[in-house]
Amino acid sequence: KAEDLVLCVNNIEVIYDHVILVLKGVSLNVSRGGIVALLGANGAGKTTTLKAISNLLRAERGEVTKGSIEFDGERVDRLSPNKLVRRGCIQVLEGRHCFGHLTIEENLLTGAFTRRDGNAAIRRDLEAIYDYFPRLKQRRTSMAGYTSGGEQQMCAIGRAMMSRPKMILLDEPSMGLAPQIVEEIFEIVRRLNETEGVSFLLAEQNTNMALKYATYGYILETGRVVMDGPASMLRENEDVKEFYLGVS
Ligand code: ATP
Repeated sequence: KAEDLVLCVNNIEVIYDHVILVLKGVSLNVSRGGIVALLGANGAGKTTTLKAISNLLRAERGEVTKGSIEFDGERVDRLSPNKLVRRGCIQVLEGRHCFGHLTIEENLLTGAFTRRDGNAAIRRDLEAIYDYFPRLKQRRTSMAGYTSGGEQQMCAIGRAMMSRPKMILLDEPSMGLAPQIVEEIFEIVRRLNETEGVSFLLAEQNTNMALKYATYGYILETGRVVMDGPASMLRENEDVKEFYLGVS
């Protein structure tokens, strides 16, 4: 049912520089409270899909030329990224993007910039974030630029949480991180999902890890969804095993 979906991407086409067709009609849904994995090789179009949803393509000379995007029951195709954040949908960019010269705590507080509910509530949420991410609490006064890659990824997710989102678009959180740290981050994502009810659309090249935590998955190949299904089904699929899980 439509009201069970938090995000509905309907047959979108994306063109860069007026000529380069990168998404050739992508459709996907995220159910309320779901963790949905968007999988595929480097260059398949995962980042482009996330940026199309949060309307961040203009800076890259990209444009959605066909299709529609609905978040929380309303069309959001033409909504600016910060209005979308106010509605409850926020993207954590690939590569983490913390402010290197601000402390971890200052970074987290920048995530509350769209809020109007006052300092006390923001402080409360900051403490809640520290409960989820004890490492960030330990590092709260460190400049983000001097923290580890894993801590910066946690900081980027924590900062997104400070906007009180219904949904996070999470781009390649595993990139460049040791498996143990990736696992730690995904465990926290799962807890945020279960406890705070945040839905996730998770773009990942690490198919194995993503399918361990996701409820449902889509596989993109050169701008098209070539397969989708419950994560348990994708994990058992012979083609997925051969091409994406490195076993045959
Ligand atoms: P990655 O793992 O590198 O993020 P991806 O699956 O997210 O890969 P995209 O970054 O969405 O893939 O890129 C999809 C295709 O679009 C690639 O062929 C890429 O070269 C092309 N592309 C991305 N950004 C631009 C741009 N600004 N201008 C032109 N082409 C682009």
